[in-house]
Amino acid sequence: MKPIYKRTKILATIGPASDSEEMIEKLIEGGINGARLNFSHGSYEEHGAKITKIREISTRLGKQVAILQDLQGPKIRLGDLVDNRFEVAEGDEIVLDYAIEQHDGSANLPVQYNLAEKVKVGEPVFIFDGKVKTEVVEIPSSTAIKLKVLNKGTLASRKGLNLPDTDFGGDVITEKDKRDMEFGATQDIDYVAMSFVQTAEDIEAVRQILLSLGSEAQIIAKIETKKAVSDEELEKIVIAADGVMIARGDMAYEVAPEAVPIVQRKTIALCRKHGKISIVATQTMGSMVDNPQPSRAEVSDVANAVIQGSDVVMLSDESATGKYPYETVRAMRSVIRYTQEHAAVAPIDDIVERGENEALNAISLAAVELAEQIDADAIVVETKSGQTAATVAANRPSLPIVSVTSSTRVAQQLGLNYGTRSFVRPDGEFAGYELAKDLKADGFFGDKENVIVVIVSGRQPGLVGGTDTIRVRAI
Ligand code: PGA
Ligand code: MN
Repeated sequence: MKPIYKRTKILATIGPASDSEEMIEKLIEGGINGARLNFSHGSYEEHGAKITKIREISTRLGKQVAILQDLQGPKIRLGDLVDNRFEVAEGDEIVLDYAIEQHDGSANLPVQYNLAEKVKVGEPVFIFDGKVKTEVVEIPSSTAIKLKVLNKGTLASRKGLNLPDTDFGGDVITEKDKRDMEFGATQDIDYVAMSFVQTAEDIEAVRQILLSLGSEAQIIAKIETKKAVSDEELEKIVIAADGVMIARGDMAYEVAPEAVPIVQRKTIALCRKHGKISIVATQTMGSMVDNPQPSRAEVSDVANAVIQGSDVVMLSDESATGKYPYETVRAMRSVIRYTQEHAAVAPIDDIVERGENEALNAISLAAVELAEQIDADAIVVETKSGQTAATVAANRPSLPIVSVTSSTRVAQQLGLNYGTRSFVRPDGEFAGYELAKDLKADGFFGDKENVIVVIVSGRQPGLVGGTDTIRVRAI
């Protein structure tokens, strides 16, 4: 019997419902591979405490967890309103003014961003998750915009705005995001996710900031704007980033709800083509915020993400603020395991040519085909930067990928890659073989007598980009 392990990874947002030591331990034991910290909420002290706890517990349990810092980006919110609310009716005019510090109860409302510099007359502005739709009718001052309300509704303090047609002109990284990145660079984090990315240049800008801060974090581009999902930008963003999140929550408002499944398929395919991580996010198990079991539609949604070959499925409110964080992780894990045992990952049909690095792509594909043909027990990858392991994983093998790297950071990052388990060992000529022997002794392959592994490595251990060898070894 070959051991069953889950190939699609689970990334869970850690929030008030899940930040106790007991719950973090339960979630790691329960099957999460990554922890997301949402920097739209919480103080540095709170985030720092979570990071310390997660690392301490995952080390104690011997289970790797990737930590992702999710930056708010230009998520624009209303300010505080008198009595917390403001009623609007169709045809009303309201003003959003960055200069207002205190709402006086009138239709002049405070907002946390100077929109007068960005929006144009005629552009739509959706408020409170699209509940109130408006349109810009005038820019009355250098800090204010006037909106015509298109439907009756209630606004509330600090509710978010979506501006699907507004071009932020490369200005998506806010001062808060920069401060948050500075904080993140002092912490043990593996990924930084950027919200409301519009173009590949936004990702380049984040990369420059992280480099200047000495951060080793990889970058996840959150796909949620009209610009980002366009044919001109999507593939460029995938190439520029280390991974992408299909951010279905805001995407439904910024693009259209019916566009979400199509963008999801396209984005996962592009990620598989280029060896980048794909994360399917938002409402994967949404009803489990209040219920101990998922709906049929949610089970189907997660199963489809698995069949499409997503690297990761994500939990937001379900694990951050919901009533059943542990039950949700267990339910998600069951769906992943059942689906992978009963359905193959769908081939990517509309993409013929693969990404840029031809030699590495060819070696990775050959290793996967060889391993599947001889029914090997694992593909063992010696990887320095993680790229070889990611490229092998991009071929979505149905057997375990065991990566060995000398970098703890890379090992943690690989926690989010499809089918990959990673181990930290010094670079060495027999690092992969030695690891496979130790894993067999530790029972990683169950009670199997004759373990066969396919080892992918470079002739010069520890050299980035030196992968050139495939070996079949009996252990
Ligand atoms: P958010 O991102 O939860 O940070 O908004 C995910 C999404 O928009 O789906
Ligand atoms: Mn979002």
